[in-house]
Amino acid sequence: MISDTLKKQIRDLAGNRCGYCLSLQKYVLGMLEIDHIIPQAKGGTDDPDNLWLACRLCNGYKGVQTTACLSKDSKNYSAF
Ligand SMILES: [Zn+2]
Repeated sequence: MISDTLKKQIRDLAGNRCGYCLSLQKYVLGMLEIDHIIPQAKGGTDDPDNLWLACRLCNGYKGVQTTACLSKDSKNYSAF
């Protein structure tokens, strides 16, 4: 769980813009979200070194990339 104090600290550190596409908060729809550089599912922590700001687009894109890997090369599969 990330405290509001820590969230504000990350936001200030990141200059209030997305850490990936560098869009400022005022140019982004919705709030920038705190993102784990190493996902918690892969052992990432809530340490400030592992936290960054991300807009919804960049956050969503990372999610899409992960699932896209799973369907790779499926059309080359043949039983005969
Ligand atoms: Zn972004």
